[in-house]
Amino acid sequence: MGHNKTVWDNPADVIRNLQPENPVIVFAPTVLQERARRFMDGFPGLVTYAVKSNPEEVVVQNLLSAGIRGFDVASPAEIDLIGRLAPGAARHYHNPVRASFEITQAVRAGVRAWSVDSDSELAKLFAQVPVEIDGKGVEISPRFKLPVLGAIYDFGSKFGAAPEAAAEMLKAVAARGYVPSLTFHPGTQCVDPAAWESYISVARDICDQAGVKIRRLNVGGGFPSYRVVGVEPELEAIFDRIGETARTVFGDDKPELVCEPGRGLCADAFSLITRVKAVRDGSSVFLNDGVYGGLAELPVVGNIDRVQVLTPAGEPREDERSGRIIFGPTCDSVDRLPGELGLPETIAEGDYVIFHGAGAYSTVTNTRFNGFGELLHATVMALE
Ligand SMILES: *Cc1c(COP(=O)(O)O)cnc(C)c1O
Repeated sequence: MGHNKTVWDNPADVIRNLQPENPVIVFAPTVLQERARRFMDGFPGLVTYAVKSNPEEVVVQNLLSAGIRGFDVASPAEIDLIGRLAPGAARHYHNPVRASFEITQAVRAGVRAWSVDSDSELAKLFAQVPVEIDGKGVEISPRFKLPVLGAIYDFGSKFGAAPEAAAEMLKAVAARGYVPSLTFHPGTQCVDPAAWESYISVARDICDQAGVKIRRLNVGGGFPSYRVVGVEPELEAIFDRIGETARTVFGDDKPELVCEPGRGLCADAFSLITRVKAVRDGSSVFLNDGVYGGLAELPVVGNIDRVQVLTPAGEPREDERSGRIIFGPTCDSVDRLPGELGLPETIAEGDYVIFHGAGAYSTVTNTRFNGFGELLHATVMALE
C-alpha cells in the first residue's frame, strides 16, 4: 500500500500524470471536513465517528481538525488507535459482544461508555467495569432492535435485544449505579428518516417499562452517502426528524442525543480510480479492482453508479451509456459487481473508471487475494 505525496487537483490530474496501472484511492480532506461540519451543525447532539468504516490516520486527523471529539470503537485495536491519535476524545465501545480479555483491556484503557445486548454480556461487564472512572460515571447502553423490522435497514440482525429484554437490562444498569442510556443502529445506508423515528419511539417505551430516565440516546450510524446519480442524501431531513421525534416522545425527559456515523462521514470524501484491463468481446468489462478489493461491499449494499470514465489522456468519455457486466481481476467468479453498470459505448482497454463515494468499507476491507489489491493512496483538492 503506497502513498503518493503530491497533492493533485482531482482524479483526472492523477490519471494524466501517473497513468496508474494499479487502483488508486484518492482522498479529499476538504470534503471530509466539510461533511463533518455539516453533521455537527445539523445533528441535534454529539457526533461521534464509527472508526471501522475507515480507520486511516488521515481520516481521524481531519475529523479532529473539523472538531469531532468522539469515536465509536469496536475492538482493543481501535481503542488504542484513538487513544494514540486523539487522547482525551470520548471512546464509545459499542460492539456489544466482547471476550473477557477485551473488556479487561478496554477498562485499562479508560473506556467509559459501553453498549450491551444480552444478559450474558451484561454479566461480563458487571464483573469488570467500574461504575466510575476518575470521578466520572461510566455509561452502559442496552442496544435494542425493533420487533418489526423494515428489512432493508437490517443487515442480518446480528445485534440488538428485544425491547422487553432491553428494559430489564436498563433497570439492572441503573440499579448498579452506572449511567443508564440506550442505543440502536438502524443498519447502514438508511435513506428513510422514518426508521429513526420508529426506534426513538420504542426507546421511550423501553424507558417507561424500566421506570428509568436515560441520560443519553445514541441513534447509531446508518446515515447515507451519495451512491446513486441524482439520489443525494438528505441528511438535514434525517437530523431534523431525529430532533423533532426525540422532543415529541420524550418531552421534558429528553435525553442528550448522540450519533455514530461511519459511511455518512467518510464515504463521499474518497473516489476509487480503477483501470479497464479488457473489454471482452465488446461486452463484459474487466477492471483491475473488484469485490476482493476496494469494491468489497457492493454485492451487499448495491452498486455505486456515480461513475466517471476517462481515457488514458484524462478526457471524459461522454457518449451514450449501456449496461455492462463488470468483473474484477481475480480468478474467482464471485468477483463481479451486482447486476449491470451503465458505461459509455466506446469504453476501451486502458480507460479509467472512477467510482465516487468509495471511502467507507473499501480500503479497510481490501484483500490481496490472487496477488491483486495493491492500492495507491493519493490526496486531491477536489473529487470532480
Ligand atoms: C458499523 C456501525 C456504525 C456505523 O455504521 P455506518 O452505516 O457506516 O454509519 C455505527 N454504529 C455501530 C454500532 C456500528 O456497528
